[in-house]
Amino acid sequence: MNQDEQIKQAAQIVSKAKNIVAFTGAGTSVESGIPPFRGKGGIWNKYDPDSLDIDFYYNHTKESWKVIREVFYNFFNNNDIKPNKGHYILAKWEKEGRLMSVITQNIDNLHAIAGNKTIYEFHGNSARFVCTKCGAKIKSDKVEITEDPPICKKCGGLLKPDFIFFGEGIPQDAYFNSVQAAKHCDVFIIIGTSGQVSPANMIPGIAKSHGATIIEINREPSAYTDRITDIYIEGKSGEILEAIDGLITR
Ligand code: NAD
Repeated sequence: MNQDEQIKQAAQIVSKAKNIVAFTGAGTSVESGIPPFRGKGGIWNKYDPDSLDIDFYYNHTKESWKVIREVFYNFFNNNDIKPNKGHYILAKWEKEGRLMSVITQNIDNLHAIAGNKTIYEFHGNSARFVCTKCGAKIKSDKVEITEDPPICKKCGGLLKPDFIFFGEGIPQDAYFNSVQAAKHCDVFIIIGTSGQVSPANMIPGIAKSHGATIIEINREPSAYTDRITDIYIEGKSGEILEAIDGLITR
């Protein structure tokens, strides 16, 4: 099947679907200018991933914060970073009632900015901080980002970005809701994820084993392609989603 036929087939499936779930990874935000962690141009080619280890954050806070500030607050939260057409199409599909939720591994908040409402943030979100002492959650635009690690105004505890560091567990509600969404959808769309990060990479298999049709959009074959994917479309997520959207029967 050539790519035009794959897109046509995906559009037919999306047109008929009653309960679509999108499962997104770093590749979904590449067209917004955010590099993936791994591979060519990946963030970890420049920075040491140890900076995002939770014990390292507590024991070498200043060193860890320097990297976190540079990568996630000077860069990610830069106003030039905006959702791309792929994010907007997923928001449009939710508004139309065909997409029930987005399960995202991304921490860049771009699905919410694009307008999606039901988002399960599997790895948390850089747009919030959490106090490691009193548990308060604070929007990152309310936190002064300086060279010093941020401190809670209420209790003086150390703030931590509210995304998952290496060594931390998945937020329980995001995990539970993602499993439920995967079990109950009829179409599951994997977008821009290599499938190497566990336990997030178990979610597509749950959808498959509960009978969902699996559509995958990636720049290269992933851990899912030969195992569970029904329709694999290779390309940039924004462009492919736009092409599918253009062929949906409404
Ligand atoms: P990954 O870096 O392991 O894989 C990225 C995948 O995206 C690859 O399969 C690649 O082929 C594909 N890809 C690259 N450009 C694409 C494009 N334009 N369109 C479609 N696909 C494209 O990403 P992952 O599987 O999400 O795992 C990385 C982890 O790092 C995640 O858990 C996530 O939390 C985190 N991360 C998040 C961001 C972000 O929030 N934007 C960025 C980098 C990493």
